[in-house]
Amino acid sequence: MENFIVSARKYRPATFMSVVGQSALTATLKNAIKNNHLAHAYLFCGPRGVGKTTCARIFAKTINCAHLTEDFEACNECESCRAFNEQRSYNIHELDAASNNSVDDIRTLIDQVRIPPQIGHYSVYIIDEVHMLSASAFNAFLKTLEEPPAHAIFILATTEKHKILPTILSRCQIYDFNRISVNDTVEHLRHVAQKEGITADAQALNVIAQKADGGMRDALSIFDQVVSFCGNNITYQAVIQNLNVLDYDYYFRLTDMFLENKVKDALLIFNEILSKGFDAHNFVGGLSAHLRDVLMCKDTETVQLLEVADSVKQSYTTQAQRCPTDFLYAALAIINDCDLNFRLSRNKRLLTELTLIRLSQLTDKKKNELSEEDILPPIELIPEMHLGQPVVTQVSPAPTRQPVPNKPTAAAPATPTAKPVNKNMLSTPPPISISITKPFVQQEKTVVHTTTKVSTTEKQDNPFSADSLEKAWKHFANEVIPEKTHAKNIMLNNLPSIEDKHKLKLVLDQILQENSINEILSELLAFLRHNLMNDFIKLEIIVDITKENTKVMSPQDKFSKMAESNPALLRLKKEFGLEID
Ligand SMILES: [Zn+2]
Repeated sequence: MENFIVSARKYRPATFMSVVGQSALTATLKNAIKNNHLAHAYLFCGPRGVGKTTCARIFAKTINCAHLTEDFEACNECESCRAFNEQRSYNIHELDAASNNSVDDIRTLIDQVRIPPQIGHYSVYIIDEVHMLSASAFNAFLKTLEEPPAHAIFILATTEKHKILPTILSRCQIYDFNRISVNDTVEHLRHVAQKEGITADAQALNVIAQKADGGMRDALSIFDQVVSFCGNNITYQAVIQNLNVLDYDYYFRLTDMFLENKVKDALLIFNEILSKGFDAHNFVGGLSAHLRDVLMCKDTETVQLLEVADSVKQSYTTQAQRCPTDFLYAALAIINDCDLNFRLSRNKRLLTELTLIRLSQLTDKKKNELSEEDILPPIELIPEMHLGQPVVTQVSPAPTRQPVPNKPTAAAPATPTAKPVNKNMLSTPPPISISITKPFVQQEKTVVHTTTKVSTTEKQDNPFSADSLEKAWKHFANEVIPEKTHAKNIMLNNLPSIEDKHKLKLVLDQILQENSINEILSELLAFLRHNLMNDFIKLEIIVDITKENTKVMSPQDKFSKMAESNPALLRLKKEFGLEID
C-alpha cells in the first residue's frame, strides 16, 4: 500500500511564488535577496499554519541557490537546492524551542554557528516557537544574535510576538504574517483537489476554509479528514455533517421569518437546531455573522467583504434586498446583546428564545411606522363606528377637516409618525381625530357639502362610559389591528380603566407588551377619540415591574435579589472578599 502523505506536507510550497496569501511579505524577502540586503536575524510572527516555517525554509534555500532564476526564486536544480529539497542540506538547522528551551540547548546551537558552511554561502538557523525559550536561554543567545559570524542567518518564528524580549526584538527584522483569507484558502484547496483527482463543490471548500480560520495547514488537515470521510467527491452536505457545522440555510430561513414576524416558526427552528446537538452560543454567533454578511450585501462596495462562495453570494444579495437597513442595524445590536449576556445567563435557551422573539418583532414596528396606510383601514368603511353612542346627524369629524383645500398643514399633525416613543404618558394634543391616509382621499368630494354643518376646529369632549370604552377597545383589537399582531392579544387580555374624564390607564406586566402597544398607540388613540367622540382621550401605560420576570438583570441585581432571601450570601461575599462581575 502506498504511503499516504498528508496534504499539508505534500503541497508545501517550494518557491516564494507558491506561498499562499503572503504576497507582500514574500515580495519584500525577494527584494532583499535581489539587492543583497540580508539581515542577520529575522523574526517571523503570525498565527499557526500560515507559512512562517515554510517561508523560512524557502528563504534559506533561495539564498544558497547557485543559479537564481530571473525573478529571484531558487532554481530547484543545483546541488544546494536538491540537498534542500531532499532534506539533507547542512545549510539549514532547525531548533524547536518548545522542547529545547534550556541554556544548554542554546549553547549547543551557538557552538554550531561558528562552523562555516561547506556548500553555499549561508548557514540558516530556524528557531521555531522562540517565545518558549527560558529567560536564561534568551540571555545566552543575545550575544550571538548581536554579533553573528558573517555566514550565519537566524530566523526566529513565533505565534506570540508579545512574549519576545525587547532586546531580541530590536536585533531582528520583523515580518508579520497574515491570516490567509477564505478566498485564498479556497483557491489553494481547489488546486490541491484538482491534483488529487477529487471533485469538490465551492461551498464545501468554503466551509473548510472558514473552519480553518486563516491557517492553511489546518485547512489542508481538515481537507484530508473530509476526503477520508466522503471519498473523491466532496459535497457541502457531507462537509457540514462531518465537521458539525450548522447549515447556513437555517440562517436564511430564520432571517425570512424575522421579516415576516413569524415568532412561532423561528422558535421551532431554534428547537430543531438544538435537537441536532448544536450549541446555542455557536448558533448566536453564526446568526450574527449571517446578518453581518447580509448587511455587507446592502452596498456594492462592501460586498467584497463577504467571504462566501459565489453561488451563496447571490442568496445573500437577494436576502439583503428584502432586509431594510434599519432592521439589520437593530437586529445586529440585539444579537450582540444576547452574545454579551450569554455567559451570565442561567437559562441560555430562554435568552436565545427571547432574542429570536425580539428579532421577529422588529419589522412589525417598522411596518407601523413606515406605511401607516397599509395597516390602518379606512375608518369610514366600517359601519358600526359609533359604538354605544347614538349616531349624531353630523358626519364623523375626521374627514371634515380633510376637504378644506387651503389648509395643507392640517394633515401634518395627524400622521402618527411623530408619536412619542417610550413614554408611558401620551399627552399629545389631539389635533384631529384620525390619521389622514390615502383611502380618505376619494371621500373628499362626498364630504365637502357637509362641512358647513361642522366647525372644522371644534374639538369634541363628550363623556363616555366604561361600557362603550370596552366595546370600542375590543372592536379596535378584533377588527382594526391586523391578525397575528401581538398588540391584539395584549389588548384583548388587558382592559384600560377610566382614571378621569380624559385619562385611561392600562396596566401591563411586561415591557415587551408596552412596546407592542406603543407601536399601535397613535392609531388606537385616534380610533378611541373618534369613536367615543372625545378628542382629549389620553392613555397612560403602566408596566408593573413586580410582575415582570423576563427582564434581564445585571449580576449585581441578581445578587441583591438572592441576598434578600438568603442573607448568608452577604456574609459569604464579605468573608471571602468576593466581587460581583
Ligand atoms: Zn538552486
